[in-house]
Amino acid sequence: NQSSSQRLRIAIQKSGRLSKDSQKLLKSCGVKFNVNEQRLIAHADNMPIDLLRVRDDDIPGLVMDGVVDLGIIGENVLEEEQIERESLGKDAAYTKLRQLDFGACRLSLAVPNEFDYRDSGSLEGLRLATSYPNLLRRYMQSKGIVYKDCMLKGSVEVAPRAGLADGICDLVSTGATLEANGLYETEVIFKSMACIIQSSVPQSDAKQALIDKILSRVNGVIRARE
Ligand code: ATP
Ligand code: ZN
Repeated sequence: NQSSSQRLRIAIQKSGRLSKDSQKLLKSCGVKFNVNEQRLIAHADNMPIDLLRVRDDDIPGLVMDGVVDLGIIGENVLEEEQIERESLGKDAAYTKLRQLDFGACRLSLAVPNEFDYRDSGSLEGLRLATSYPNLLRRYMQSKGIVYKDCMLKGSVEVAPRAGLADGICDLVSTGATLEANGLYETEVIFKSMACIIQSSVPQSDAKQALIDKILSRVNGVIRARE
């Protein structure tokens, strides 16, 4: 059928913090391709590989549904989607082939500078803005803290100043965005790197051999960069 391809399908972020490094990694592995910004698909010239350029949020689901064979994605987005799907009874299986050496960030709790924070118990009963409701819930449940949700896909860091929430749970790398919004980081709840994942759908021998070849090259490229 049309939707199952002989060519290996790899989903990468179209544009954003992971896209350049994802493309660079594949090129370092000897996959030759040119990206057309207007196009969803980039065909490799020298191997039976198609790159699918999508929103990062779509990548875990595409892999878990077996629509693509491989994906390069932040562990934060991957775990969030996995918990979400498990709670809905949807397919959430995948294989993590390996962690990569880019995309480092952390998902942290942060509160306004004037907040008198002792530990996560200080958040009991308060409202927290986040784009990661599942990772936040898992963490707060493990601590036995009850809080209120404020789900925002963007502008999370302005929610306290706007009076929408008392604190936030958001991605941090340097902390500059928090500082610019009068917030400070109190607790890291999840540490993340980019990773490469494979669909759990059984592959043809030829496709699996290509995946194995790509993975062994990824291992070599990352070892050489260490
Ligand atoms: P898209 O348009 O694809 O949905 P996005 O705006 O959701 O993009 P980006 O900001 O490009 O996502 O971040 C993609 C991923 O990069 C994050 O999910 C995370 O894994 C990683 N990352 C690394 N550093 C940071 C950071 N400082 N802030 C946010 N994400 C970071
Ligand atoms: Zn996204």
